[in-house]
Amino acid sequence: MELAAEIIDLHKYYFLGDNVVKALNGVSLEIPKGDFVAIMGSSGSGKSTLLNLLGALDRPTSGKYILGGHDVSQLDDDELSAIRNQMIGFIFQSYNLIAQYTVLENIEVPLYYGVRPMNAADRMKCRDLANEVGLGDRLDHRPFQLSGGQQQRVAIARALANDPEIILADEPTGNLDSTTEAEIMDTLRKLNEEGRTIIMVTHENEIARQAKRQIFMKDGVIAGTGIFPGPSAVAPVGGGVSNDDSESDEADEWVDLS
Ligand code: ADP
Ligand code: MG
Repeated sequence: MELAAEIIDLHKYYFLGDNVVKALNGVSLEIPKGDFVAIMGSSGSGKSTLLNLLGALDRPTSGKYILGGHDVSQLDDDELSAIRNQMIGFIFQSYNLIAQYTVLENIEVPLYYGVRPMNAADRMKCRDLANEVGLGDRLDHRPFQLSGGQQQRVAIARALANDPEIILADEPTGNLDSTTEAEIMDTLRKLNEEGRTIIMVTHENEIARQAKRQIFMKDGVIAGTGIFPGPSAVAPVGGGVSNDDSESDEADEWVDLS
């Protein structure tokens, strides 16, 4: 089994005066290539901290992070940003598009910071990505001329522009209505079926169950792992798979199948 990413006994402490916040307190995780993981857990459990470390946006206090065969836990800032650019695609809840850029230009953004100047083939590839997410006829639109779902599609295409080792998604459907949410999840599932490795943070069971597996964080550690039944499966009687998409993600609702 080839791993896209692996973290080993990762700790992240924040030091605030005399206080130490142990945001991550010994997390180990193997992400095989082609995995689709949902990270769940209540507010403050360490999800964003974990995603920031996986995204090479920050360094751990201790522990190892191996991404595409490289140990990235010891890199300096320049090396981290190079790794980020080459190996990671980000999808955020708030899309984070550049307002004055067109759809195509937004998709091209990761290539502007690449190791070599962009060429005609790169540009063609970004057009193909726009087509792939259903925006081939919107290349010259600006973000304000698009719906939320379309903006998130641009962000998904942008995340793919550098052919990343892993795609990180932080509440990717958090700002979308339920129809659009379903479309975006279809797109993510399709990308995963094509072999893309996806790590997604969500607090919604209905979203999490569309991933291949789920990890539940609590107090900076992995408190449980599980596999929800697929989207079409019927929830077990009295089981913990809830259709309620409020922030009811406490451990007592978690189906621990580990
Ligand atoms: P989640 O995303 O699951 O809500 P976070 O990873 O954001 O959790 O936070 C985990 C813990 O670390 C919380 O107690 C939070 O207050 C703390 N924390 C997060 N970021 C910082 C920071 N920059 N400085 C100090 N404490 C932080
Ligand atoms: Mg968070």
